[in-house]
Amino acid sequence: MAYSIGIDLGGTKIAGALVSFTGEEAEVLVYEKIAVDGQRRVERVFNDISELVYSLLGKLGKEEKLLGLGIACPGLVDVERGVMVYSENLNWRNVEVASFLDPHFDFPLFIEHDVRSGAIAEVFFGVGREYRNLVYLSVGTGIAGTLVWERHIIRGVRGISAEFGHVVINPGGPLCRCGNVGCLETLASGGAMEREAYHVLRQVVDGTTIMQRAKEGVEPFSRIVDRAAHFLGIGLANIAQIFDPEVIIIGGGVAEAGDFWLEQVYRHYQVHQFWSFPLPPLLLSRFLGKASVVGAAGLPWLKKAKFL
Ligand SMILES: [Zn+2]
Repeated sequence: MAYSIGIDLGGTKIAGALVSFTGEEAEVLVYEKIAVDGQRRVERVFNDISELVYSLLGKLGKEEKLLGLGIACPGLVDVERGVMVYSENLNWRNVEVASFLDPHFDFPLFIEHDVRSGAIAEVFFGVGREYRNLVYLSVGTGIAGTLVWERHIIRGVRGISAEFGHVVINPGGPLCRCGNVGCLETLASGGAMEREAYHVLRQVVDGTTIMQRAKEGVEPFSRIVDRAAHFLGIGLANIAQIFDPEVIIIGGGVAEAGDFWLEQVYRHYQVHQFWSFPLPPLLLSRFLGKASVVGAAGLPWLKKAKFL
């Protein structure tokens, strides 16, 4: 049995987990969440992460040794240099994660992009284990993806491949935070549904409530969820058409709604079948909202086993 710690640094919350690994089995033993410093001060955030790591480390038996630490970071990440190049959520540029945290710990530290960490969790320990070629799509406040081919993560020349959230689905659509208009993320994400609910009702309704009311068949929530599913179906069919993967795995906060939501997405997706070729199946992620933290914890284990 091997143990490591994963951290998922988000815009408002930091999640941490102590995870055990045996072969291809990963089990979350302890899971904790803390708030991100309101002013998003770099040093403060890293001190909080260190405390969270020590707290998780305290839960490990005295005779057990920690393999290492993985940090899942949002935005653009330079994995080799251990640097967060740009994060819109935190409003950070060129933050040297490895330099900040290395002096605190005497075990190896790795960093990875948060959505790619989620993909790593699914590919090595989750529903992606039996496939060699797949796409992982995280649908949460935003939308992002990872392309895995022959079990290798395809990063692209500039490290920004598979940013499926920013493919244009409706050229006359809403302005996106990336500067483009009508991106998939502005139409199909949890954030898109919340904005639509606010537009219709003039009050803030969180994504979980929107999904719950839609399940009960209450308008305008049913219509809002169905509209987002319609656009996601188009996006997924485009992804299937471009890459021809074996499966598409869907994770992220919105995927926590489970089959109710996935069935709606599938209904819109299958309309866009290419000639008589069946579209690849859509699978729900195993780790859902915890995928990034499990994938981050998996980094020291997978590097040691030379899987990454
Ligand atoms: Zn965009």
